[in-house]
Amino acid sequence: MARQKTVRRAEAVVVRNGNGSRDERLALPRSERRLNFGDKWSYAPAPEASDYIKLRSRYPLFINGKFVAPKSGRYFDSINPATEENLAEIAEANAKDVAAAVSSARRAYEKVWRKMPGRERGKYLYRIARLIQEKARELAVLETMDGGKTIKESRDIDLPLVAAHFFYYAGWADKLDYAFPGRRAEPLGVAGQIIPWNFPLLMAAWKLAPALACGNAVVLKPAETTSITALHLAEIFQQAELPDGVVNIVTGAGETGRAIVEHPDVDKIAFTGSTDVGKRILQSVAGTKKKLTLELGGKAANIIFEDAPLDQAVEGIISGIYFNQGHVCCAGSRLLVQEGVFPHVIRKLRDRISTLRVGNPLDKNSDIGAINSRMQLEKICELVDSGLKQGAELVQPRLRLPAKGYWYPPSFFTGVTASHRIAQEEIFGPVLSVMTFRTPEEAVERANNTAYGLSAGVWTDKGSKIFKIVSKLRAGVVWANTYNKFDPTSPFGGYKESGFGREGGLHGLLPYVQLT
Ligand code: NAP
Ligand code: MG
Repeated sequence: MARQKTVRRAEAVVVRNGNGSRDERLALPRSERRLNFGDKWSYAPAPEASDYIKLRSRYPLFINGKFVAPKSGRYFDSINPATEENLAEIAEANAKDVAAAVSSARRAYEKVWRKMPGRERGKYLYRIARLIQEKARELAVLETMDGGKTIKESRDIDLPLVAAHFFYYAGWADKLDYAFPGRRAEPLGVAGQIIPWNFPLLMAAWKLAPALACGNAVVLKPAETTSITALHLAEIFQQAELPDGVVNIVTGAGETGRAIVEHPDVDKIAFTGSTDVGKRILQSVAGTKKKLTLELGGKAANIIFEDAPLDQAVEGIISGIYFNQGHVCCAGSRLLVQEGVFPHVIRKLRDRISTLRVGNPLDKNSDIGAINSRMQLEKICELVDSGLKQGAELVQPRLRLPAKGYWYPPSFFTGVTASHRIAQEEIFGPVLSVMTFRTPEEAVERANNTAYGLSAGVWTDKGSKIFKIVSKLRAGVVWANTYNKFDPTSPFGGYKESGFGREGGLHGLLPYVQLT
């Protein structure tokens, strides 16, 4: 963690390149160098209450409507990445546990769920949505404690969207005939769903709500570092009296996910995670009856044209990469700036990142919380090192990061070329790679110059330019003059190595039905 130490001691906006020398164009004027923007912008702490949160010391598996000890007999620790404290022990499901979950799902599917009229299934989903709303604050605090994301994010973005997804798909449960006019939509059977750690409850909602609305039973595996909220969601399923076995939750690491993927009685796999694991899953299900959707990584470009409202654009860039610690698959991790406004944009960016508050994720004033795990922090540091070695220049504000926990300051690179790893690989941290372009054609070419194609952003005053550019961008979602806006009615998914299949909206029903 050598880099972290350097950062902690830093007291000025640091501009570094591979030789360790400073780029004077980007550095603050000499007179301002000793100013501490952090102090200037600091507020008194405003922590969200967490003393009422009831954590279990051990979280078993959720199979057939009950919490059961794992056959493996093994547990692993889930920690709070902001404090490195152990929060709880989580059951580690082995292949036998997964088999029990799959057969419980199969029974529930055949005996209850597939036979139930859509309007009845819808009632359960509405009930779940309302219970999530009732417990939203508690779930948001748990999400923040277990995953490190700011309470601002979990309370104001994640939880409202989680409830909204259940409400939205509840509405489809009895209207599938209208979703696919003239055709009959039959459920597929048992869906195995594997999700990552960046939006634990939201990813669970994206997967569970459409699957259940269409009449499938589910075996869900949350990510190893963020399993706790999924198990609190299981308590909500119990309270909603969802029939036993319709949703089963098995916790564990990659091996548990692999056991789901390889189980012969699973009809569908829905995976959100890294492109590497996605490719392995694709190989594993090839030649089987299993249907597959993959939501993988991204390296989104935000394109700022000279005619864009620059303050607004910079604010959008900031929220698109720094909030949620850059732990967003569709994060705007590349910034393409038209040459004429490059110096202005860079100066605004530099000033703005100096005002971002990094720290206690439970504090309502924190803009950037903790990096989800030590492993993720190491990945970020390794990629930032590669950027410096390959000749790019790093800008970081002076910040004193908390002594415990995993943190990374908001940072950006200039002098980035398309061949740099930081321009091609997903950093999945609060690090932006800034490049320039001259013409709209060049912007499109640079934006598309990546193996991914999940999302992109365009900032300009001209509506015509937006339409022209958007049709040429090879990305599943393109935001114009805004960024990272989500709604359950809107489909989301990737091109190229960002995966296939769509989640959200009417399109999100398709992966869970057989149309006849
Ligand atoms: P990951 O390592 O691929 O893990 C994703 C999930 O798959 C986790 O539950 C993981 O378990 C499990 N897993 C690991 N190896 C497996 C295997 N061989 N077979 C089956 N399951 C396996 O991804 P991550 O690092 O947690 O998440 C970050 C990635 O997710 C980023 O690349 C990001 O872009 C992507 N993401 C994409 C979207 C989207 O919608 N496109 C949304 C969010 C995130 P453990 O973690 O417990 O080991
Ligand atoms: Mg954790």
